Parts: sequence; structure tokens; C-alpha cells
Amino acid sequence: MDKILDILQKYYGYKTFRKGQEKIINSILSGEDVLAIMPTGGGKSLCYQIPALCMEGITIVISPLISLMKDQVDTLNTMGIEASYINSSLSVSDYNNVLKNILDNKCKILYIAPERLENIDFLNIIKNKNISQIAIDEAHCISQWGHDFRVSYKKIPYFINNLDNRPIVTAFTATASEEVRQDILKMLGLVNPKVYITGFDRENLYINIVKSSAKNKYLLEYIENHKSENGIIYAATRKEVEKIYEGLSKRDIGVLKYHGGMSNDDRKTSQDKFINDEVNIMVATNAFGMGIDKPDIRWVIHYNMPQSIENYYQEIGRAGRDGQKSECILLFSPVDVHTQKYLIDISTENISRKSIQYDKLQQMVDLVYSNSCYRKSILEYFGETVDVDCDNCSNCLSEGVIIDKTLDAQKVISCVFRMKRNFGIIMIVDVLRGSKNKKVLEAGFDKLSTYGIMKDYSNEELKNFINTLISHGFLDIRENPGARGSFPTVYLNKQSMRVLKGEIKVEFKEVKVAKESREKNELFEILSDLRRSIAANEKIAPYMVFGDATLISMANSYPTTEDEMLNISGVGQIKYQKYGRQFISVIEKYMSDKNIDKESINKNEAKSSKEDEQFFEVDTDKDLYELLKKLRAKFARKENLPYHMVMPKNTLKEISGRYPLELDQLNDISGMGPKKIEKYGQEIIDTVKQYVEQNDIKVEWKDKKRKKLILDGESRKPKEIALDLLNQGIDMRKVGNDLEVSVSTILGYVYDYIKEKNELHFKFDPTIYYCEDEKELIEESIKKHGEEKIREIKQSLPDYIKYESIRAVIIEKYIS
Ligand code: ADP
Ligand code: MG
Repeated sequence: MDKILDILQKYYGYKTFRKGQEKIINSILSGEDVLAIMPTGGGKSLCYQIPALCMEGITIVISPLISLMKDQVDTLNTMGIEASYINSSLSVSDYNNVLKNILDNKCKILYIAPERLENIDFLNIIKNKNISQIAIDEAHCISQWGHDFRVSYKKIPYFINNLDNRPIVTAFTATASEEVRQDILKMLGLVNPKVYITGFDRENLYINIVKSSAKNKYLLEYIENHKSENGIIYAATRKEVEKIYEGLSKRDIGVLKYHGGMSNDDRKTSQDKFINDEVNIMVATNAFGMGIDKPDIRWVIHYNMPQSIENYYQEIGRAGRDGQKSECILLFSPVDVHTQKYLIDISTENISRKSIQYDKLQQMVDLVYSNSCYRKSILEYFGETVDVDCDNCSNCLSEGVIIDKTLDAQKVISCVFRMKRNFGIIMIVDVLRGSKNKKVLEAGFDKLSTYGIMKDYSNEELKNFINTLISHGFLDIRENPGARGSFPTVYLNKQSMRVLKGEIKVEFKEVKVAKESREKNELFEILSDLRRSIAANEKIAPYMVFGDATLISMANSYPTTEDEMLNISGVGQIKYQKYGRQFISVIEKYMSDKNIDKESINKNEAKSSKEDEQFFEVDTDKDLYELLKKLRAKFARKENLPYHMVMPKNTLKEISGRYPLELDQLNDISGMGPKKIEKYGQEIIDTVKQYVEQNDIKVEWKDKKRKKLILDGESRKPKEIALDLLNQGIDMRKVGNDLEVSVSTILGYVYDYIKEKNELHFKFDPTIYYCEDEKELIEESIKKHGEEKIREIKQSLPDYIKYESIRAVIIEKYIS
């Protein structure tokens, strides 16, 4: 326990483990086979590397990608760990050197490509060595169900089985799907494996889905505002990558490209430049990514919608591996759906596979259209239960101003209606803008009353507007079945008719591109320069010297002694010995140039750290809160909904303490999405207005934006509050009532708590949540699905068995 923390500090310079790491490491150290499923950027490498350092003998890491291997080994070497790699990129003499190192016990961790496992020289040498662990990275590559299947992975089990002594075998992947997981367990022949699935949430990623077809404009503005940051632009096809690449290069923006149509050399050069911070924007197809572990990618833009939520999540996962805030933007237009359908069509002949892929595509489309918290939807897709909205996605935060576009929408819809047959967007645009185009005139569309009524739009703007109508479901777009080479045409649907009749409003949010959020810091820039020159000297990537997070914290706290340096996350002893003095002298020089003294910094620290964290404090106005509760009760009765489904209590409290007087301001309140504002907004505003006037309250509205809300000084998460209450001996149902969550949710909290802390400090009787015959059914299903898969368990059981019963049975296993 202490030993692994020591190693974490000494070599990696990190102070604490991330979620799941410690348990996985301990499991491996106690000799168990392990399958660990953690999200991209979750910190899998460390889970096999630390045991490798603790155990006698050599750890062999099997990894699919050559470039990744070199980076990992370079990173380990800079930390002072003896590591080497074997793959096809090595020259014969380098290869012999590695073999010699193994022979001389000078290699603690060996990375190897799977196709090299059969090499005779290697086998001869390794036969007489003590192998402590075989770690299989990107283990999903063994499964044909995954998207990165590699034939050479099938060789791994033979290699393992032919060893005289079977070492501990561990497998790591970010792919969560059940089929893939089963394949890994079976095909790798793990023995009594412990399976760890850590949460899939990546809190530092801001998920932003933009429904707009003004993609280029958005992209250019975004890049303009984020010039110095590293980012990836993903596009669906090679052609699209080339187009974006050309477009940006033409504007003198430094970009790289990467796709399967380029030569190996070109791809490698491109990737190296990106990793070494020579050029900071990469345009790529999904061929790019698995081979890079670059931790400081600040944004990922999807220029097209990806094919599935798995793909999407894996791709955005490449942002912010270092845990720093990063942004993920999906630019959606309805044509993307057609592109992806086409790609599925040509990718496989296998009908059942095709239909699985279509389903996955549909779920991705549903996500895009969803009005609730995106993160929640994604995590639920991966089988996690999530109770609270994330407040860090564009649905939760709904930035931008809402604009009423009903009239313009009616113009478009009535034009489509009058054109009778179905046409593509371009034709509709021509008619609305009064084009004299031959096709328009031949069809007699110049006689329509809608001919030329939208001349105030440019061609591009109108196309975008129609696409936006489509992406919000006010019109449909479809391909004519059977017609070859046909282009998609526009159809009316139920929503269109309701818009036409004036039954529903069409409101769009005008998207604003966020200005660069991270402030420039002069010292940070100076430290980055130093980092770059060290990296160039040592021929390694800059992040291997120190990560962004480490430099930022140096720039904020001015460490000038060994102790202070070692206190910075990311500075371990080895790295301190290598680079510490250089960084300290730069910091000292900066401080003397700028007349900065430590004393005054320390005094200001308390203040500035508070500002850094960006909290937003609100105190409930109790009287207004009571009024709002009554209003909520009214809504609830009208819609026959439980109170908390109308609006959570905390939303009411936040409103009461902030006094929004305009509809728009409600966008800035947690828990108020566009739907809710539409339904309840006006009455809430009216209530607040009246209250403010009657009580003579001077209101000064302040935006919260992305700051973290602290209500009445309460900074604990619901989960923590619940456990504190339970530990005080308060009854489960009452806690549920207080927090406005179901008992099953509370039981979920209890379960997580037991898993973390292993014991409860209050009396808990699970048997009151189920009856005996239910228990048997539940237990059977748990065995089948695994206890983490609550939703699957519930679905496999008769309807009358409740979530809370299932949870209670699971918890009981731990406390009895
Ligand atoms: P993946 O799970 O995708 O393989 P990595 O192992 O590459 O993730 O880790 C991603 C990043 O997170 C790396 O830069 C790594 O150094 C960092 N990291 C891993 N564990 C910790 C930790 N306990 N504290 C801080 N950073 C960590
Ligand atoms: Mg990895």
C-alpha cells in the first residue's frame, strides 16, 4: 500500500491515484489475473506499470501500435525506469541490444508487438527469464466485434500457454461492450479474472453538440479563439479531411492531416509533428488516435457525426488526458447521417453486422437530438446509472441566445408544401430566393406564392437554416429508396404541419463560440519554452518532460526549492534530478525580473485559489423559495408528475437566491433546460418579478456560466450528503424524500460507498426491500449479468421486481 504510493510519487510525481487504479494494482500484486475497463485517458498504463516495478522479474506489455510503444518507452525512460520495446521499426542491432538488455536483467518493462511474439531469438531468451506479468494493452483488438480487430492478437494465448510458468495475465481496454468483454475473457484465457469497470465519466471534458450547418464558420472562429492550443478535427471521410486541410492551409493556419489514404511515412511525419508540438492542429479520419497518448489535447472537434456513441466517446476521450479542462464539439448536420449510412453500407456484407451498426448509428442520432444532459445519456448508454445532470455539457448549460424563427420556418415549410413533389435543399433554396434557374422556371415554381419570399437570406444562410430545421426535426430528409445515385430530398412531417398551423414555435439558439478560456500566463509560456528546448535536446515529446498541468501549477506557485518542486503534481524524484534545477532557475529569474516575492504570494494564495476554482455561491431566499414550491406543486398537479420531475428542489433554491427577471437568464440556472423554460419559464419569472417588487429587492444579475454552484454553503455532492445523513442514523426513505431521489438511488450511493470503504457505519437491513422468492430470481440474474449491470438485471426480471430490491440484494452480499 505505502510502497505503491511511494512509487507513484517517486517515478510519476503524482500524489494520488485515479479512480480504480489502486484496486487494480493491488489485485495484480496479490497474483490475480485482471481485466480492467477504463475510459480513454483514465490512466490504464500506470495500472500495469506499477506492479511491474513492485514485482521480481520482467513485465511484458503487448501493444498494437508501434508509435505508441516508442512513446510509452520514452516516457518510462525519462522517469528513470528501465524499459525497451520490440517491433518492426527496430534495426537488427537495436533489436540485439534489446535482447541483450533482457539477458542482463536491464529491462523491467518490455513492450512488444504481438506479431513479434513468435520470434525464435526472443523466445529462447525469454524462456529462462522470470516473467512477472503479461499485460495486454488495447485488449479489445482480439475481438472481431471491436473496431480495431487485429489478427496478430490471436497469437497471444499460444505465447502464454507455451511458457513454463504462467505469469499473471492482465488485460486493459476502453471498450465497454459486452460482446467484446466476453471475447477478451474467453480468448485470452484469463484465469479467475477480477474484472474492473471504472466509471466512464470524464469530468474534465465539456461536451458540446452544435446543430448547425455553418460548420466552416464555426470552425474558423473556434480556431481563431484557440490558437495556441492543441486540437484534433475529426471528419468522416478522407475526402472531407483533405477539404478541411486545404481550407485551413489556404488561410495560413498551421494544420496537419492523417488518414488511411496517405503513405505510412507521411502519416508518421504528420503524427510526430503533432506529438512534438510543432503544429498544433490535426485534421484526421478515425484512423488517427489509438496510436497517440498525447495528454495535452485541449479540444476535439467532430466535423461530422461519428458512427456510434462508442466511437464518439473514444474519440473525444483523446482530449484532456491530463485531467485539465478540455472541450469536445460535435458539429452536426443531418447529411452526416447519410454519410454514415453509406459508410456502413460499403463496409460490410454481413447483414446482421450491418443491422447492429445501423442501430448504433440511430442511437448516436438520438443522442444528438436529445434535450437532456448529454453526459448522462452517454453514461447510461454504457450501462451506468446517473442521477444528476452534469452541468458541463451544452444541454445542461445551453449557451447562446434563443431566437424565435417561427415565421421564417413557416415560409420554408409552406414552400415545400406548395412544391408538391419532393426536392433537395438546393431547389428549395432556389425557389425561396427567387432564382431564375431553368429547372425552377420549367417547373413553374416562379408562379408559387412563396417564390422569392426569402431573398433576405444568402444562399448559404438559407441552406443552413433549412438544415437546422431538419436537424431539429421540423422537416425530414430522406433518400429515395431504390433510386441509385439519388440525393436526399426534403419531406414534411407532423411537426412541420404544427409549425404551419402556428401550434408550435420554432426557436433556435444562436450559438456563440466560446472565447479562449484559459488565460495566458507569461511564466507558463516561459516554462513551455524551456520544456520545448529540453525535449528537442533529448529527442522526446515535450509532454514527457512535464505536462501542462505541471507547468501551470509551477507558474502559479513559483516553487524554488526541492521540497516545493516535489510538491507539484507531476514532479517525481527522478524528474526533479533531471530537470528541477533548470526550471527553478528560470522561475527565480522571472521572480527577480518581476519583483515577485514569496511572502506576498502566500498571502494571496488563499484568495486566488478560491477564484481559480470558480465557485458561484447562492443563498436561498426562503420566502421566495416557498412561493416557487407552490408554483411547482401546481405544475406537478397539472401534468401529473412527481414534484422533482418538474424541477429539482435545488433549482428552485437557486432561482430564489438569484432572482432571474428575464426568461433568458433561466438558461443560466442549473436544471433549467430549454424545454422547461418553455413550459414553466414565464410563470417563474412572473412570480420572481412580483416578489422582488413587493419586497423592494434590488437585483443585480450575475452570470454563473460554468462555475460550480454552491447552494447555502453546501459543497458536498448529493451522494456525500446522503451518506452523511444515513451515518447520522436517519432513515433511508426520509433521506430520499429530503434529497428528492428514489430509495433505489440512495441504495446505489450505499453500494458505491461499500465498494469504496467496505463498511457501513449505520444499521442497514436489506431484507425489508424484497421478499424471499424475489431474492432468488434476482440472485440468478446478478450471476448472469454481473452486479454492475443494474439495467440489464432489471430488464431480465419480471416487471414487478423493483430496482430497490435488486440493489438491496446486491448490497446484502457485501454486508453479510
Ligand atoms: P489510458 O487509460 O488511455 O491508457 P494513460 O495511461 O495513457 O491512459 O494515462 C493518461 C494520462 O493520465 C497520462 O498522461 C498519465 O500520466 C495521467 N495519469 C495517470 N494516472 C494518474 C494519476 N494517478 N494522477 C495524475 N495523472 C495520472
Ligand atoms: Mg493506453
